[in-house]
Amino acid sequence: MNADCRIISGHKIHGSPMNNDEAYKAKEKYMEKQLEWTMHLDNTYYVNIFGSRLPVAFTHGKGVNLYSTEGNKYMDLLGGIAVNSLGHANPRLVKAISGQAKKLIHCSSLYYIPSQAELARTLVEKTFADRAFFCNSGSEANEAAIKLARSYFFRKDAPRTKIITALQSFHGRTLASVTATGQSKYNLPFAPLPEGFVYVPYNDIAAIKAAVDSDTCAVMLELVQGESGVIPADPAYITAVRDICTAAGALLILDEVQTGTGRTGTLFAYEQFGIKPDVLTTAKGLAGGVPIGAMLVTEDASTGFVQGDHGTTFGGNPLASTAALAVLKEIDDRELLKNTQTVGAFLKKKLTQIQKKNGTIAEVRGLGLLIGIELSSPIAVEVKQKCFEKGYLVGSIGKNVLRLAPPLILSKREAAAFVSDLSDILTDYPV
Ligand code: PLP
Repeated sequence: MNADCRIISGHKIHGSPMNNDEAYKAKEKYMEKQLEWTMHLDNTYYVNIFGSRLPVAFTHGKGVNLYSTEGNKYMDLLGGIAVNSLGHANPRLVKAISGQAKKLIHCSSLYYIPSQAELARTLVEKTFADRAFFCNSGSEANEAAIKLARSYFFRKDAPRTKIITALQSFHGRTLASVTATGQSKYNLPFAPLPEGFVYVPYNDIAAIKAAVDSDTCAVMLELVQGESGVIPADPAYITAVRDICTAAGALLILDEVQTGTGRTGTLFAYEQFGIKPDVLTTAKGLAGGVPIGAMLVTEDASTGFVQGDHGTTFGGNPLASTAALAVLKEIDDRELLKNTQTVGAFLKKKLTQIQKKNGTIAEVRGLGLLIGIELSSPIAVEVKQKCFEKGYLVGSIGKNVLRLAPPLILSKREAAAFVSDLSDILTDYPV
């Protein structure tokens, strides 16, 4: 590869950009340099919304591990941001997806879909819900919930418009879900934003009590604020919010996009808070990597939508529904909720031991296998990089927090290996 198109500092192509002929020649000549080629294509053709990605591309995975084009192995402790619930290349999931793909991938929801109906039944039987709706992502599930909350009152001829969410929340990227997100850094460029959203401090009972009124159609909350540092809700707060919503006749929407499908050690996190929502949204891990979103609702809340109020082309198609059924079955058969509780508690205990030994960790928090490690100084990105160099994929949130959301199959042995290497990494940092 000539000097002009050599990739320097892992990301940028310095010098004058290659024209297409040069680029294709480089591709042929350096086929084995798949990563450099991919980075060139990405730099040239992909909309740059992800900035500097880690300089790695993966060819395949197995269990909790991913393998790169360079032939390196990485333990995946982020699980595609809480998506690869069964890890990589899980035999049951692969068999379900490939078997279904050979028969029927998509046909539209204009027709009855056996796996979609079966998935709705399975989720209803396992939760508070009476009905389910399927879409393709967490944002879409939240979009559906926001629409449902408003139309629920519209259909009753008693319109209410106010939707209360928490500061520091994250609810997605569509216009309504990004407006629901209580962090202006996510929604500032997209004004004018939809009206009627009000933000309150998280875990503050007095604030939510003061905010809910007779125009409030819904309160929408996460049970662990994942994107702002893995902050769990206080159980007393969630109980109070449930009571406040009930008293005001407002719907309680729980955003379990990240905390769903066993991530916190129960199928859904609300089970640990002793309350039931009216609406629950979920996505990420539900089909183990096949895009799917779901909105679970009580019979009463479901009356908010009448025929034509909402829809979807892909949502809950045969492929995605079959994948989700396989994930739920595997979670049951392999007792992965128990594993999530055990390995999550083990990780927290071991990380807390490092915290006691070495002041670089300020706090370890989270539920199940959704864990935040708050560092005492702004070194999260550097530590993430060092983990990467040692063969571990972890996430970082802001400057201080590392996030772990590994596959629910993670073993204690694998967790212990990571903690030991993380401890070594952290000893390099002064307290
Ligand atoms: N809600 C929560 C709590 C999330 O963590 C996310 C994504 O990180 C979303 C919604 C948006 O989900 P998606 O990226 O699938 O649209």
